[in-house]
Amino acid sequence: MKIAIQPIGFVNQKVLGFLKDALSEIFGDVVLLNPIEIPKECYNKDRRQYFSTCILFRLGTLSVTLAVIEHDIYANNLNFVFGEAELNGKRAIISLYRLKPELYGQKNDYLFKLRALKEAMHELGHVFGLKHCDNRHCVMFFSNSIVDTDIKDWKYCKDCLNVLAKKNIRVNQDLVV
Ligand SMILES: [Zn+2]
Ligand SMILES: [Zn+2]
Repeated sequence: MKIAIQPIGFVNQKVLGFLKDALSEIFGDVVLLNPIEIPKECYNKDRRQYFSTCILFRLGTLSVTLAVIEHDIYANNLNFVFGEAELNGKRAIISLYRLKPELYGQKNDYLFKLRALKEAMHELGHVFGLKHCDNRHCVMFFSNSIVDTDIKDWKYCKDCLNVLAKKNIRVNQDLVV
């Protein structure tokens, strides 16, 4: 599975490098693209957030693309989202904004990277056709808050893996993160 990571504006290089390495081992073929400018028209001045769907529709569709942005994003009817994806499509986006340990009075680089991987796996799971999973420890469990993100694993559960296997999407979850 070829996946392109697309930074939107300035994005933490350590997190991008970590995502590239981890996702390469998990899915096989991952490239890190050069950053593109943040689409100004996707900014909502009143909310002081970017509309994630607006950014999503501006991404390329040549290969599966995972956009990463540092700013806060929202989607329809939601105050904020950690990410958004096209179910069975090509495009996904994650925001690092609410994953930053500093936001919760924590200081932990590893936690920051782990959260980013969980959100990346979750949104890519949607791209590959997975819906939300009832298993609290599965990465496809819906995160209402950072607590949910921290409780769940970065991996797909057996049931979700089976769905992916039927679609011939191979996933290696053996790596130690
Ligand atoms: Zn989801
Ligand atoms: Zn699952």
